[in-house]
Amino acid sequence: MTILKDLTPEELTAFVVELGQPPFRARQLMRWMYTALESDFDAMTNLPKGFREKLKETARVGELQLKEVRHSEQETSKFLFSLPDGEVIESVRMRYMDMVDMGPGRIAVCISTQVGCAMDCDFCASGKLGLRRNLSTWEIVDQVVQIQKSVQAQGERVANVVFMGIGEPLHNYKNTLRAVRMLNNPEGLGIGMRHLTISTAGLVPKIRDLAAEKLPVRLAISLHATNDTLREQIMPINKKWNIESLLKACQHYQEQTGRRVTFEYILLDGVNDSVDEAHELVRLLSGTHSHVNLIPWNPIEGVEYRRSRPARVRAFQEVVDASGIKCTVRQEKGSDIAAACGQLRLSDLGGLAKPRKARVSK
Ligand code: SAH
Repeated sequence: MTILKDLTPEELTAFVVELGQPPFRARQLMRWMYTALESDFDAMTNLPKGFREKLKETARVGELQLKEVRHSEQETSKFLFSLPDGEVIESVRMRYMDMVDMGPGRIAVCISTQVGCAMDCDFCASGKLGLRRNLSTWEIVDQVVQIQKSVQAQGERVANVVFMGIGEPLHNYKNTLRAVRMLNNPEGLGIGMRHLTISTAGLVPKIRDLAAEKLPVRLAISLHATNDTLREQIMPINKKWNIESLLKACQHYQEQTGRRVTFEYILLDGVNDSVDEAHELVRLLSGTHSHVNLIPWNPIEGVEYRRSRPARVRAFQEVVDASGIKCTVRQEKGSDIAAACGQLRLSDLGGLAKPRKARVSK
């Protein structure tokens, strides 16, 4: 069975031609899938009956099954989707976002790229059970399609997509990039490249590969520490690619794409939130065209970190702001519905067997 949402427009054209149809049928199919958000071939009434029958025998559109939706008081909803093999992933729908400007009726979506994650960051729920598998292209794309479907009737539109759900997008590079191109395609969902954000724990060679694609997608780096000793403890990926090599790759990305890089920094009480570290962050980023987004840590049951107190968050932000680097603090969204990466999936799978001691203690 061919899954149509796995195919680029060119591949879809080749597919319909192979079935003996004229190339424009591909465009008709794309309109059904990405504008009408239809998944039933029988409903695609402008396609000849014989072609529809053939499609039913050889293909599926590719549709995720909604397992659960949770709505938060903060205008954030979390979608838990089942995959054909029984795995589950989660996506988040947001009506506002501090990282990007959003107008009325505009929706941001946070999507997953893998089932589980291999990065094993100490503060994150997604990696606690390891990596199960990569998502295929359609499994990435359809998260956005399904969420668009949930708002389309109200006249709202998905305007921003952040690859910040479960998984490491650059560890599933090929399918992430295919999904980026399909989300951007005017005959797909038509979301501007500048409204797509790829977030990475710091896979340096892949950041360089991404730079070489010269797409104006937004790059966000999960930095979370200002020295290698600490970063290695909370983010094992740093043993492979340290802060210096990561910042060099970001500089290169900026030069190649002209885009400002966003640095994400989770504030963990007594671990990485001192004023000295704020100064060190400023020193590291000076000379780069960057933006810092401070993230209040979302507690995960059984993981022994604490979020920084508001006064420490403010002090940290003031130092970064005073340096001229734009610094925002992520607003609290969805913490009441376990909307931080991987939490809902983790609890759906029964949670952690036993509490984990934090790798870094005060
Ligand atoms: N693997 C990618 C994308 C997924 S994580 C990456 O590391 O960037 C998306 C962001 O959420 C990252 O900045 C990650 O560090 C952060 N994050 C993970 N767990 C969190 C938690 N419990 N509270 C707040 N942010 C968290």
